Parts: sequence; structure tokens; C-alpha cells
Amino acid sequence: DDDKGDIHSFKGHDMLAPFTAGWHSTDLHPLVIEKSEGSYVYDTNGKKYLDSLAGLWCTALGGSEPRLVAAATKQLNTLPFYHSFWNRTTKPSLDLAKELLDMFTASKMARVFFTNSGSEANDSQVKLVWYYNNALGRPDKKKFIARAKSYHGSTLISASLSGLPALHQKFDLPAPFVLHTDCPHYWRFHLPGETEEEFSTRLANNLENLIIKEGPETIAAFIAEPVMGAGGVIPPPATYFEKIQAVVKKYDILFIADEVICAFGRIGTMFGCDKYGIKPDLVSLAKALSSAYMPIGAILISPEIHDVIHSQSNKLGSFSHGFTYSGHPVSCAVALETLKIYKERNILEQVNKIAPKFQDGLKAFSNSPIIGEIRGTGLILGTEFTDNKSPNDPFPPEWGVGAYFGAQCEKHGMLVRVAGDSIMMSPPFIITPEEVDELIDIYGKALKETEQKVAE
Ligand code: PLP
Repeated sequence: DDDKGDIHSFKGHDMLAPFTAGWHSTDLHPLVIEKSEGSYVYDTNGKKYLDSLAGLWCTALGGSEPRLVAAATKQLNTLPFYHSFWNRTTKPSLDLAKELLDMFTASKMARVFFTNSGSEANDSQVKLVWYYNNALGRPDKKKFIARAKSYHGSTLISASLSGLPALHQKFDLPAPFVLHTDCPHYWRFHLPGETEEEFSTRLANNLENLIIKEGPETIAAFIAEPVMGAGGVIPPPATYFEKIQAVVKKYDILFIADEVICAFGRIGTMFGCDKYGIKPDLVSLAKALSSAYMPIGAILISPEIHDVIHSQSNKLGSFSHGFTYSGHPVSCAVALETLKIYKERNILEQVNKIAPKFQDGLKAFSNSPIIGEIRGTGLILGTEFTDNKSPNDPFPPEWGVGAYFGAQCEKHGMLVRVAGDSIMMSPPFIITPEEVDELIDIYGKALKETEQKVAE
């Protein structure tokens, strides 16, 4: 009907928005953001918005941290660029590598490789794992297992690893060496009467069956986000990672933790791995690593993997991989300062102090007739709109319920991430109690208006 069609007319807030925005087309009438201040951003008309997604899950210290500006300026004035190839590098890149190795304690890590983004980090993981298996004389151990609804990036390989159909359709992806296993979303996929633990056991069994069917000797690595982000914010069900890790270990499959969203405090621990007892062989980092003030990504590499690659690299030829801007000194200087601020201000304590207010305040809306589930942990939260509170009764996509909610938030001065009928929020770590109150207030208003629209 027409009214419901109206809802859909609030477009520009769906999965494709980042891509259209990425094309910088003015004829699409994008919302142009001009300025940021703490947890807020301002558009070109001077309208102020609470940035509930911290940019794209990344501006952890908000939009106006002078120390990061100073760190960048100082580095630009000293050494704006030098590369990190052929055993040459820069001090900020060495210092940052050391700092990251000190910080990550979930498993032992020996080396750091810098990239410009999370996508490049995950692409680099694939090349690293292949090189490692070639060095071990097992070139057929090549396949990667990722999960449905995961997001690992947008390059050919990281989009292949991602489990979102929109990233595959019409791109001839995923690449043939990538397999996808179950999404660990209990609410959506559990069987009647199944507990979280039983659900996790079933998923681990499914993973094991997939490995056996494909041949364990062909599976190189398993990749997972500790809490799935862009797939709709999906924290793992109880005992999930324990059971999944037991399976991958049994078949000598490497575990890659994609910590691009979770790392540095987002979910209340320094790394997502710390929260769920994940002991990865490789880790991908980006986003909050520099609070997004400069682009940077990194991968952490276990001593075992490094030693094999290092000892074999004369035989195989050197590990010929890297980017001009790998370890860019300005990005590294900003990241170092970011990590210093996290420590000095005890950002973990801050996140854990504010998180219950954020989580409980929003989860109080769970009884809304148009909300299926509100889920999250720490400072990350997802809302899923469904009819009859059931995962099996989505609203007709052409109603654009999620887009309508997003548009109401925007009207009231808050930016949220919309993907279909899924809404995502991950505010800056520095969000204040008053700002959380405002966030909850706007969410509540937008929800009421969306409920009314749906009921029309
Ligand atoms: N991995 C995860 C978990 C992400 O959320 C993202 C981006 O949102 C990426 C990888 C890709 O990072 P980038 O956009 O920096 O390439």
C-alpha cells in the first residue's frame, strides 16, 4: 500500500549506501559531514548528530582528540614518509609493532605486518597462510572457512571470506577456495527447545562435517569475528568458540581472529579473543587501532607461523608481499598515541562503566511489537525489526522499516547504521552518560514513530 511504500522512499540507508557514497556523487544528495566534536558530527547545514556508530565502528576516541592531531603533525614535520621494505623501516612502525605484541596476550604473537585497512589485513592473511603451507610442503591445504553473515572486507578475497550475499552476487564471488559455515545467531537459527550450548554443539558438528567432507588436508584456516559486526551485531552463543576451536585444532586448521571491530575495548575487553577464550594463530586489526584518525590495519603472526615462513623464505623466495604505505609512519604515530590514550585514560574501565547503561537502556525497548531482538555487549548493539517478534516473520522488504527508523533517528539528530531491517550502533568509547541518555531518548522516539508507521 502507498503508506508502506512511503517508508521505502527513505532510501540511501541500505546496504548499498556506503558504495554509492564511495562514488562521491552529488546527484545522490548525500548527507555531507563537515565537522566532528567528541561523540557528535555536524553536516554542512550545521545540524548536529550523535554519531552512534563512531563513524564506521572506528572513531573510538570521538571526533576531536587534540593529542592525535598533535601526534600526526609532529610525525609529518619529522618524517612524513619512509617505507618498511627490505629490512628498512621507521621508529613509529617498530614501536607500534612492539606495543601491539605486548598488548595481545590471548596467545603468543611474534610479528606484526602493517596494512592500510582491515580488508588488506584479511587479504594478507590468506597470502600468509598459503605461503606458510607451501613452506611446510602442503600446497593443497588452501581452503578457508568463514561464516555466513560475517564481514571481512571488500577486496576480492576479503569479500569472498565475508558471508553476506550482497558482496558476492554479481561479482562472481566468493572465490572457489572459500567455504562458509553456519552463522552463530542463536535467536534466528536455533531449533525448538535447543539450548545455546546445544546450538553451539550442533554448529561445531556441522563445521566438523564440512571439514571431513572437503578433506581436512585441504582446509588451511578458519576466520571469525569474535562478535559479528556488519552482519547485524551477533555475539557468540555460550560455549561456541570453545567448541569451534576444538574442531579446527583437531584438523590442524589455523584460527584467524578478525578483531577489526572488537579490538581495543569495544566489547569490554582489550581484544575480543580475551572475552571468549579465543587463542588465535593470526589476528587482524584496524579501525580503533588509530581511532580512525589515519588509515591503518595490522596482522599479528604467531611465532610458529613466522618461524616457518622465515626459515623457508630462502628456499621459496622471500615473502614478497607489502604495500607502499605498510607501516606508514604518520599512521603508526597516531596509532601509538591512540593506544597510549587508551591506557592512560583506562578506556576499558570507561567502556565497562558506561556499557550497562547503554545496553540496558536500549534492551528495555525489546518488548516493542516490531522488534524481534536487541542484542549486544559492551559498546556494540544490534536491533532487528521483525513482525510478531519472530525471526521467521520479516517485514516485507519494500516497507523499508529499518530505513524508516534510520531516517527518524537522523531527523532527531542521530546517525545509525541500517542494513535492511537490522540497525547497528557502536558509539565512541568516550560517550558520556548524558550522551547515552540522549541516544536512548532518540532511539525511543524513532521507535515510537516507526511503530506508528508500521501500524498504519
Ligand atoms: N573486518 C571486519 C570485522 C570489519 O568490520 C571490517 C570493516 O567494517 C573489515 C574487516 C574491513 O575493514 P576495512 O573497511 O578497513 O577494509
